[in-house]
Amino acid sequence: MTDRSEVLTETFMAEIREKNPGEDLFLQAVEEIARDVITVEKANADYAAAKILARLAEPDRMIQFRITWPDDAGNVQINRGWRVQHSNAVGPYKGGLRFASTVTPSVLKFLGFEQTFKNALTGLNLGGAKGGSDFEPKDHTEREIMRFCHAFMAELQYHIGPSRDIPAGDIGVGTREIGHLFSAWKKHNLDFAGVITGKSLCIGGSQLRVEATGYGLIYFLCAMLDAAGEDVQGKRIVISGMGNVAMHAARKACALGARVVSLSDTSGLLEAPDGMTNAALDWIEARKAMKETISEPPKDLGLKYHPGGTPWGIECDVALPCATQNEVGEGDARAIVAAGCGFLAEGANMPLTSDAQKLVRDSSMRYAPGKIANAGGVAVSGLEMSQNATFRPLSASEVDDTLRDIMVRVHKTVRDEAATDQTRGPGIDYRRAANRAAYRRVAEALLDHGVL
Ligand code: NDP
Repeated sequence: MTDRSEVLTETFMAEIREKNPGEDLFLQAVEEIARDVITVEKANADYAAAKILARLAEPDRMIQFRITWPDDAGNVQINRGWRVQHSNAVGPYKGGLRFASTVTPSVLKFLGFEQTFKNALTGLNLGGAKGGSDFEPKDHTEREIMRFCHAFMAELQYHIGPSRDIPAGDIGVGTREIGHLFSAWKKHNLDFAGVITGKSLCIGGSQLRVEATGYGLIYFLCAMLDAAGEDVQGKRIVISGMGNVAMHAARKACALGARVVSLSDTSGLLEAPDGMTNAALDWIEARKAMKETISEPPKDLGLKYHPGGTPWGIECDVALPCATQNEVGEGDARAIVAAGCGFLAEGANMPLTSDAQKLVRDSSMRYAPGKIANAGGVAVSGLEMSQNATFRPLSASEVDDTLRDIMVRVHKTVRDEAATDQTRGPGIDYRRAANRAAYRRVAEALLDHGVL
């Protein structure tokens, strides 16, 4: 970063820090974008006069509500729910719901902010939002989860709608929870509308929505490899996480001939020195579905379990962090570089701490942030919305082809933006180019709206 943009960013961030004390993840996300776009804003008199960046650092609104529900023993339980409607400049608010004990308004504010930029890069008309609750599904029975979802939607329903705000799933909110949430919305609104995405097929969902983020990640990786004159075939890939994104990324990577050598969860690491087989992936998926431990894999699957282990440090060509935010610290990033990794693409949202990101960006590794690499999920959510609106379902191959096209187009948008950046060398600085391209799209939309 030049001295000028350093000074401008510092001045800008001083004000943002004062307004958002203690909100570390949010401040990290805003600063990361400010560093890359502040000179774009200052160089454009209209953007500067409209205070685009400062406006985007304030969500349009944050809604908080109480959720009261009876547990299986008949005791009253109380949780908090939130919806952060960050920006609808480009399209209706769109973003997932997260149910986890770690959810706070600040986490959702950071995720909503990121979502606006990510959604803008898909080229679809989607604004940004995020929501959720401090409810921890792992601690509850299926019946309790259903009752909680119904109570959550009894409040959220006032704030969403098919052209207003369209939530989806995220951590702790899968197809089952989406079904409960959708049924509650219909009960209150007497309407079968595309108000939530990630639905199962029989209630208006899209083919491949579940697979989309993981598949999209691999399509984006393929575009990165292609731009570098390389191929995914035979690449050694380390993946963290063992959830939706990680498992589908692993499946697609294996199908394209890569060697996936790890997956991990909160308990530890499963290493597959010769690469994950379909049988190994089936076993992992079945264990996770039954909420069983993965600590004792059958011998013939070629898996080694390391309690408390992470994949960082295993020799690899590609690293795909797919678990959660800030899961890769500075030491982990150093281990990834030392392991010979040439490409890192984020399946999770902001999985690298600031220090880890700096280390990776200072290395020769090609690094794609989540707002481009994991945009496949929201892209197929956009397709689900259009299928609901037109009552015309697409086939799996139509969705897969469109998803691949969108990820290749996101890569092209970013590559074209990088080519206009005269302060940079010949390589693609994916993070900087993604932030600048997304900022321009949202800035133009905000300008067209005037000031309101
Ligand atoms: P899931 O809940 O399905 O899976 C998360 C996985 O990560 C679980 O295996 C979990 O382990 C593991 N995990 C969580 N925290 C840690 C940790 N601190 N250390 C190691 N492992 C951990 O979530 P998703 O796969 O849906 O989402 C993963 C990430 O991708 C999130 O950042 C999410 O915001 C992002 N994302 C998801 C999209 C989607 O479509 N699902 C879209 C775009 C982004 P355990 O099983 O033990 O809980």
